[in-house]
Amino acid sequence: MRQDGSHLRVNMQVSPVLDEHDQWIGYLAVCLDITERKRVEEELRTMSVTDALTGVYNRRYFQERLQAELQRVERHGGVFSVLMLDIDHFKCINDQLGHAVGDHVLQAICERLCHRLRRSDVFCRLGGEEFMVLCPDTNGDQAYTLASELWAALRVEPVDGVGRVTASFGIASWREGEGGDDLLLRADSGVYAAKMGGRDRIEPELV
Ligand code: GH3
Ligand code: MG
Ligand code: MG
Repeated sequence: MRQDGSHLRVNMQVSPVLDEHDQWIGYLAVCLDITERKRVEEELRTMSVTDALTGVYNRRYFQERLQAELQRVERHGGVFSVLMLDIDHFKCINDQLGHAVGDHVLQAICERLCHRLRRSDVFCRLGGEEFMVLCPDTNGDQAYTLASELWAALRVEPVDGVGRVTASFGIASWREGEGGDDLLLRADSGVYAAKMGGRDRIEPELV
């Protein structure tokens, strides 16, 4: 601790100090300030789990959190759900307005969706124009309600210079014994069904 009461992160090496008769007389501690090293480590960690374009979490972080959530429910019981969403006709936006506008749309959509999520929800960009929300302590009905809010948030607020951007949603709530891959596959199938059904909609989870 510094004199002003703030904390300093250090590597401390402590050795005993003996007199000429090998009697212990105290310790010698050498502290090396590692504040900067820790700051760099944390920055690297943040970068490794963040999507550079949108600032939301990336696929790697999603996988980490999914595995942790699976372990939690397998050990202690409970529920959780995932929502997957894929922007509709995103290629048209790129083709008609340019890739930079497409990038801006991805950022604008993340901002809109982030506002509607709870602190415990984990929002990730899986890649391209596909996103995933991991919702701890959330059953299928609650996940559907959340998806409805996200769907409405996109419809109600157009993106400047682009207009209304919509997405297709799939939902999967974890079933006992189910692995992560199967869970994601069900959410992905939901997105696919929503696309086939005409896009701009939420595919209810199959029972
Ligand atoms: P659908 O409604 O069936 O989902 O059609 P879509 O056009 O949204 O889907 P498709 O998979 O055909 O096209 C996705 C496009 O997203 C193609 C790719 O060039 C574009 N894309 C992927 N990543 C980025 C990115 O980081 N920035 C921009 N601007 N475009 C991207
Ligand atoms: Mg896609
Ligand atoms: Mg798409």
